[in-house]
Amino acid sequence: MNSLSLLSDVELDALIEKADDLFKNGKCCPIKCGGKFPRFCGAIEEGIKVASFAVHDGEEPPVSGWNGAGNVFFSGCSAKCVFCQNWPISQENNGGIYSISEFAEHIIKLLARKVHNINLVTSDQYLGKVLRAFKSIRNEIRVPIVYNCNGAQTEELFEIILKISDIFLFDVKYATNGPAGELCAIKKYADCVKKCLDMLLERQLKWEEDDLGILQKGLIIRHLVLPNYIESSIEVMNLLNEYKKRGLEFKIGLMSQYFPAYKALENPKLNRQLHKEEYNRVAEIADKYGFDGWIQDLEEEPDEA
Ligand code: SF4
Repeated sequence: MNSLSLLSDVELDALIEKADDLFKNGKCCPIKCGGKFPRFCGAIEEGIKVASFAVHDGEEPPVSGWNGAGNVFFSGCSAKCVFCQNWPISQENNGGIYSISEFAEHIIKLLARKVHNINLVTSDQYLGKVLRAFKSIRNEIRVPIVYNCNGAQTEELFEIILKISDIFLFDVKYATNGPAGELCAIKKYADCVKKCLDMLLERQLKWEEDDLGILQKGLIIRHLVLPNYIESSIEVMNLLNEYKKRGLEFKIGLMSQYFPAYKALENPKLNRQLHKEEYNRVAEIADKYGFDGWIQDLEEEPDEA
């Protein structure tokens, strides 16, 4: 049973009201932009802006399985990382506008394709509307809800997320505010991420797969290694090790797939590919700490040209 189906209508209504309120007052992310439009993250007032509804086979194996994850890529993001690999969607805000009922219809279409879950990718700004759509089709959603986020959620929003989600694909981009201040709009990113990790620890989420190895509940912490920011990645590994020692159950997704994009093309530190030796320093530390999960290879020394 997914977390959504365990909520009564009254409980779900209360969460919707809370999420709507956060959005109305512009307090749904740490930027706290206030209630005016245009919103910092690109969120629109009426409807939900979505870049694509897609059956996705690129998530970690127990998430994508053989039928794929049911990904919903929302437009806009308030973190505005200068190196964003997904910038046409997250920063240029590309996408189509869907009413709540149209959104629900698209979720039904994904479910008809037997996806293993519904994977909400960067949905913070639309959480209230998404929950309204889910409420209208809740009996048909029998798969886990995946919350796929940038790691800097406010405590108020994350409280709601913890109640409706089964699986977390949770980025930890920086462990200290120094690199966060250089590279993203959420200058206190590290403080936010630690608060969310504390809340995940409190929830005591256990890893749970079904008989066929499809993830039903669990936390995957993802980290993308950046060129010239290896010390920052090592700080992230150290932070995750502290949480591991405190009892946080997670698997890691360590990623080597960086390529210079968006504003990184003008950034002298980021305007190159990752070197194998840099990546291996981080991968060795993940290994030393005994993190279970998926550590990508970086086989070839990249072609600088
Ligand atoms: S998520 Fe968007 S709308 Fe909500 S507070 Fe942040 S910037 Fe404003």
